[in-house]
Amino acid sequence: MSISTLARSIAESPTLRLNEEARLLREKGLPVMHLGAGEPKNKTPIAAILSSAAKLVNGDVKYVPTDGIPSLKKAIIRYTEENYGRAVAPENVIVSSGAKQAVYNVLFSILNPQDEVIIPAPYWVSYPEMVKMVYGMPVTVAPEDGSYHPRMADLERAVSPATKAIIINSPNNPSGVMYTEAFVAEIVDFCERKGIYLITDDIYHKLVFDKKQAPSAYTHTSRDVDESKIIVINGISKLYGMTGFRIGWTIANRKLVEVMTNVQAQTTSCASLVMQAGAEGALTGLQSTVEGLRLTIENNRDVALQELQSFTGVKCVKPDGTFYCFPDFRAYYKDSVALSDFLLKKALVVTVPGREFGMDGHLRLSYAGSIKDITEGIARIKWALDPNSPNEIYIGDRRMVRDWL
Ligand code: PMP
Repeated sequence: MSISTLARSIAESPTLRLNEEARLLREKGLPVMHLGAGEPKNKTPIAAILSSAAKLVNGDVKYVPTDGIPSLKKAIIRYTEENYGRAVAPENVIVSSGAKQAVYNVLFSILNPQDEVIIPAPYWVSYPEMVKMVYGMPVTVAPEDGSYHPRMADLERAVSPATKAIIINSPNNPSGVMYTEAFVAEIVDFCERKGIYLITDDIYHKLVFDKKQAPSAYTHTSRDVDESKIIVINGISKLYGMTGFRIGWTIANRKLVEVMTNVQAQTTSCASLVMQAGAEGALTGLQSTVEGLRLTIENNRDVALQELQSFTGVKCVKPDGTFYCFPDFRAYYKDSVALSDFLLKKALVVTVPGREFGMDGHLRLSYAGSIKDITEGIARIKWALDPNSPNEIYIGDRRMVRDWL
């Protein structure tokens, strides 16, 4: 079979692979606990359902403008004004099929072959692969040990004449850590001085805890969006738990949006009208769903952290947002892929290996599920690894005895 060298070099999405493995085990009747999920459990907000349904009932579902339907773009402009304090024009907005496509389109539109993109670790698994998919070079930068926060000096050292962009994601998938206002100010200033694009993936920016607020890159620039190299990515997947609608967007200078529109026109034509209508419903409907979801997840975070704190040798930084935490399991296993496999086999718990996020020895655990998922999932991990924990446990209705420690 003839497959391109580039396509062959692209890694499988580890989270989607784990979902599939968990599904197969569940099909066999095994009580698998899923701590790998990247989506909240809530139902779609009613305003989104009604808005989508209205398009279906009408039966007039056709191609729509490539950059998004005007009414959704209007809702995104209002969202940007309310949440970022920035007035942007419709020409600064492009709607894509998920934030994932938005990031890919941005990279396709700004990178020449061999251009470098700096990505602080830990990072969302897709960034380096996407950079490679457009013949760019990902340059990952590790934080200081024990920290999950990039240091400006380390990023500056990674810059070369080939550097085209830096991607930041805060609050961060997988660590849940939110970058400080001072860091965001510094990186905006640095990128503006150097003429480097700053891509800020803000997909979790409202899922923030402890009465904190996510810093915004826009606060730290006086430049107009059209004169700026700041590119903001956002979407409805995490905020409203509407992952299946596949709607995300980009805010950028109009020249870039124009190019991205051409790229999108030649690939997907447009995001589906039915799903765009759903996104519009979510953005313009009652916002209590978001606050309800945020509060539930904050409580889940507290429970997860409490369970992890009683785990001998495991260190976990308190997440400021998202629905992930990223405990350090190096006291038990250096190889996170082997650890994740071991936990799936022995304890029937799905976790995502830290290596996929650029930091081995860690696991990404999701607390987007129920309290029962979190407590039972972590109890199983503790049973499998921690010699101080009781050596018997019930998994489903089976009594399991640990005989390997
Ligand atoms: N960025 C980050 C950091 C994410 O975690 C995800 C989803 N896992 C995405 C983007 C993609 O979101 P969407 O569903 O809108 O494509």
